[in-house]
Amino acid sequence: MSKPPEAPDVGELTPPNRTLMGPGPSDVDPRVLRAMSTPLVGHLDPSFIEIMNEVQELLRYTFRTDNTWTIPVSGTGSAAMEAAIGNVVEPGDTMLVPTNGYFGGRMADMAQRAGGDVVEVDAPWGEPLDTADVATAFEEDDIDVFGFVHAETSTGVLQPAVPELTSIAHEHDALVIADTVTSIGGVELKVDEWGIDVAYAGPQKCLSCPPGASPLTLNDQAMEKVLTREEDARSWYLDLSLLEGYWGEERAYHHTAPITNVYAIREALRLVAEEGIEERWARHRRVAGALKAGFVAMGLEMNAPDEYWLPSLNAVRVPDGVDDGAVIDYLLEKYDLEIASGLGDLEGEIWRIGCMGASATPKNVSLVVSALADALQQQGFDADAGAAIDAVAEHL
Ligand code: PLP
Repeated sequence: MSKPPEAPDVGELTPPNRTLMGPGPSDVDPRVLRAMSTPLVGHLDPSFIEIMNEVQELLRYTFRTDNTWTIPVSGTGSAAMEAAIGNVVEPGDTMLVPTNGYFGGRMADMAQRAGGDVVEVDAPWGEPLDTADVATAFEEDDIDVFGFVHAETSTGVLQPAVPELTSIAHEHDALVIADTVTSIGGVELKVDEWGIDVAYAGPQKCLSCPPGASPLTLNDQAMEKVLTREEDARSWYLDLSLLEGYWGEERAYHHTAPITNVYAIREALRLVAEEGIEERWARHRRVAGALKAGFVAMGLEMNAPDEYWLPSLNAVRVPDGVDDGAVIDYLLEKYDLEIASGLGDLEGEIWRIGCMGASATPKNVSLVVSALADALQQQGFDADAGAAIDAVAEHL
């Protein structure tokens, strides 16, 4: 018999102090970190019930919705995503999903696991869906659920014309599920006004909150479909008809909520409400606009044209002859600065540079622009650092 393991000699936790300008997580406001170090109460404590109510109110404000069914799902953004798709899509339903990025592919996978059939609407990676193509897809197939990614983190594309897309779906009696992981709290998002039936999101992007409790909202029509399913949802943990007992009127035990993550999202959402949602969208546009101006002035090219540029995730093309991975490593080692490489079809072609929540500051923009210019010069690319800094200053 082998010996049982000995106690490992692991030192105190001392992670490096990075500036997070990648695709998420973003920097966390000290107020959120403080909220996370406050004492636990029980998940059914009357004080926690009050906190749950407050989080729901704050989420409604941030999603711009009146939906009763608005909760933080215990888990990361993918948990909220699976709660949305796994409850709304029933076996035999057909879900229309996009092919223009990494997360549309994940939607398809989840819809299939829920027992649904998937049909696709195509657009190249780096471009949004064309409204006419979505209309054609609805003419060709009997679609029950339409999923789209509002802010595609893999490509830096913001899907325009959302109300037009939701109208097409509703004309065909389909429900709309929107992935708003990288848009919530950072770019304009109006769930009710735009006719979105279900939206899920992540806390670690423009809300600047550690991952662990992820926003989800469903309107009455979507919730009616969920509550009248013939077959139970395949996941017990994410079954919204069961979670209703905890987040609805009753407030009865379903699972032990991640108390600390709920504290965290409460504080992060309080910061959103204090700033004002519209002001927050404007700040992201202004600060990320300066970042973009700096990149262009230094001689780089943005992957997305201005019409569908996503302020929270800037996809910058890697110039010919430059090693994208070496630049990422250099920034991390020399500047403690995190940015990320491209994924899927855009691997090796772009860098993904976030500008989200507490990370979306003029100071961080100056750091990214000057550090990136330095990294590019190391690679022999003639980046005009002076012009970039001037362009940033002018924009801000
Ligand atoms: N959808 C989008 C657009 C995302 O960017 C992400 C994560 O980056 C997810 C879904 C999944 O979220 P998570 O990684 O928090 O599970």
